[in-house]
Amino acid sequence: MPSVPSPAPDRWSLTSWFSAFGAPDYLAFKDALAADLASPPPPDSSLPTTVAAFESLSVRLGHLSAFLGCLSANNAADSAVKRDEAWLATLDASFSKRRAALQASLAALDDDAFASLLLAPECKDASFAISRLRTAGRHQMDTPREALAADLNVDGLHAWGRLYDTLTGKMTFPMTFPDGHSESIPMARRRALMADPDRRLRAAAFLHGQQPFLDHADTLAAALNGIAGTRLTLYKNRSIPHFLDAPLFDGALSRDTLDAMLSAIVDNADLPRRAIRLAAKHQGTPALAFYDLEAPQIPAPASESLTWQQACETVSSAFHKAYPRLGDYFDSMLRNSWIEAQPRPGKRPGAFCTGSLLKREERVYMTWNGTVHDMVTLAHEAGHAWHSCVLRSARPMAAEYPMTLAETASNFGEMILLDGLMKSPDLTPAVRQWLLDQELLRAHAYLLNIPMRYEFERSFYEARSLGEVSAEDLSKLMEQAQRKLYADTLLPDGTDPMFWASKMHFFITGVSFYNFPYVFGYLLSQALFARFHEEGPAFLPRYEAFLALTGSASCESAARQTLGADITKPDFWANAVRAISPTLSAAGA
Ligand SMILES: [Zn+2]
Repeated sequence: MPSVPSPAPDRWSLTSWFSAFGAPDYLAFKDALAADLASPPPPDSSLPTTVAAFESLSVRLGHLSAFLGCLSANNAADSAVKRDEAWLATLDASFSKRRAALQASLAALDDDAFASLLLAPECKDASFAISRLRTAGRHQMDTPREALAADLNVDGLHAWGRLYDTLTGKMTFPMTFPDGHSESIPMARRRALMADPDRRLRAAAFLHGQQPFLDHADTLAAALNGIAGTRLTLYKNRSIPHFLDAPLFDGALSRDTLDAMLSAIVDNADLPRRAIRLAAKHQGTPALAFYDLEAPQIPAPASESLTWQQACETVSSAFHKAYPRLGDYFDSMLRNSWIEAQPRPGKRPGAFCTGSLLKREERVYMTWNGTVHDMVTLAHEAGHAWHSCVLRSARPMAAEYPMTLAETASNFGEMILLDGLMKSPDLTPAVRQWLLDQELLRAHAYLLNIPMRYEFERSFYEARSLGEVSAEDLSKLMEQAQRKLYADTLLPDGTDPMFWASKMHFFITGVSFYNFPYVFGYLLSQALFARFHEEGPAFLPRYEAFLALTGSASCESAARQTLGADITKPDFWANAVRAISPTLSAAGA
């Protein structure tokens, strides 16, 4: 039974982590951590001891980092917190060196020595994580060359990323609005304008906002070439044969699975294209332009009446009906004051879920503005928190999951809420149409737009491995990728060839292919939810078994062991894509 406290707390408490920022327990924790990171492991310490010490340092760093992350989101102007965050970044750098040294020691072991290491009590239930450290160790250069690469990356790889951020951060463009007035628009506003319900406004933001990217095309192309070129050189020196190997390793995914997923999407692209055709029909055009893709066709319902209390009760009761354990957990989050949602100036925008592996507690951060969208965010973040809760019995090394598996539980939480809302007798036709439209927007974003980014990035890396790629050729590759996924659902002149320059994701220097993990997460949660529909509550223990394995198995093996699914086969993914069919039909697409 739902038991949401009344009033539902909308501020979180962090006192179980530290009594306060700057308090004696906080300062003592910081000092001890810094001292332990500064002193190298004793030369005579055994490898199992080093593994255990590494895990403990990682947990303590994570605890401090989560605490500071919570504080700085909650009060973006707190300069003392910012100072400690900067200090923490230097600890992170020492920790990375520690990890590299451990990886090198593990890589130096032969298979027999490694197998016997895994039998040590300190390594119990951590063989997956330790094997991954060993694999990473086999693909790192010797210590002096890695150190040189890290130093050079500051002025090379990462400098290209900073150049991108600086250049685009200062971009503005003059824009004439449909009512005739003109304004100078900062580039950061362009995307929101391109999602405006007024098509004339979207078109103006697209056309005028494209000019700065055209003006700086050569500089931006140089940055993109610099980033990819550096990576390719590092891969060669680290004996990493293919540019997809590193992002696949990060995602704990095999190439077969990635290829199977992408080919199923391309083969079934006509399904999400139906959503675009419907949107085109709505707005009375034969197809869409790129600037129409993020615009809702149904206006957001006026929901001034939605209070925090009502949202918590709605989420709780949807969870309880479909998945009582999740409902109980959600209620307990509220009772324990683990959710921060109070609208207040000075809070950073956005929402996240965080947690401490030291305290085994989760926290959710968001800002409640009284919309259905915010309520969906609450269910999304609560889904993330539940994932961590399911992993509480796993040791810390087996509780960290890759990005590919990170969005499964959150999407699942969202889908339970949406499903509950759609079935609710109180649902008004306006909210129903709006929810369906939101689902369609998500479907083609995940099944066409993000795969398009992957197609572009892959063909760019292929071209880049043969030499520099000009701005003109980047635009050609981008146009090809857009046609491949969208086909004729984009107007003949409706592509955005400069998308390679305007999308910041291609210029992130910390990770490459910041795209397919999102598609994977979306489709996997679709597949899981479809099974839940078919099998009912009997499915939930297997769902939890799956979540519990996400920190100690590859994506393939977690899916095989708990769901009996072979995700290396296109069939699995084709079924997942087809899971959007009922939504398409319900929306009339
Ligand atoms: Zn999420």
